[in-house]
Amino acid sequence: MAVANQKGGVGKTTTAVNLATAMCAVGKTVLLVDLDSQGNASTGLGIKRVDIRHSSYDVLFGEVAVEDAIMQTKVPNLSIVPSSIHLSGAEIELVDVERREYCLRDALRQPLPFDYIIIDCAPSLSLLTLNALVATDTVVVPLQCEFYALEGLSHLVKTIERVRKAFNPTLDIHGVVLTMYDRRNNLSSMVENDVREFFGDKVYRTVIPRNVRVSEAPSFGLPAIVYDMKSPGATAYIHLASEVLKRERTLMREAAANEQQL
Ligand code: ADP
Ligand code: MG
Repeated sequence: MAVANQKGGVGKTTTAVNLATAMCAVGKTVLLVDLDSQGNASTGLGIKRVDIRHSSYDVLFGEVAVEDAIMQTKVPNLSIVPSSIHLSGAEIELVDVERREYCLRDALRQPLPFDYIIIDCAPSLSLLTLNALVATDTVVVPLQCEFYALEGLSHLVKTIERVRKAFNPTLDIHGVVLTMYDRRNNLSSMVENDVREFFGDKVYRTVIPRNVRVSEAPSFGLPAIVYDMKSPGATAYIHLASEVLKRERTLMREAAANEQQL
């Protein structure tokens, strides 16, 4: 799963980290790939820069096998391929690479011992994010409930369609998650109505509330779910994970039924 939206600060990293953690809490094994040079997913999971030997940059450029870049986090069952500041130059370096859209897909090709791989994307629709969209089966789109939320979304949807046609025929949006929802703010419910009208069932029923505990957690190197399990934000991410996994089971059943028909 790629967590993508070209807008910054919409809750991609928070969603990637907490969704992954909540999945691990119900026994799934998850690998988080931090594909943003900012490295917020890595630091948010308590990974220290000095301890990083190999990063997603090295994996992307085939300099090391993904297994060699995987680090265990403090969360049981949750591993990470940490980010590197070098990723900020990757866009330009990728331009000259052969099969430049397939680098990440090729690097993640071999079977890895995880139920899910979650890719935390950078806030752009550049070659780096394109690599994530080519490598992934599905996209989770976090959307912040604010005035400009829908702006740029059609561009993201078009990009996903283009990637599906050109590189990844089964790529689909898994769902749209509304983040930083403020019940006291009419704008939040207006944005919610618009998004549900546009995306229909693709929008998860679970909405993530704006919650200070969620924003505090990364500075302790912990997912909100571990930092304060009972906080409204943590509870919402636990609900989101069960919704995501339920949707997964439905998709798998449908795929199995289709296969039987063939
Ligand atoms: P992105 O990865 O899309 O840039 P982040 O996940 O880093 O976005 O979130 C941007 C900022 O908003 C961070 O400081 C984060 O802690 C904060 N944040 C994210 N979700 C919530 C929430 N539900 N409540 C409060 N703050 C949040
Ligand atoms: Mg981020």
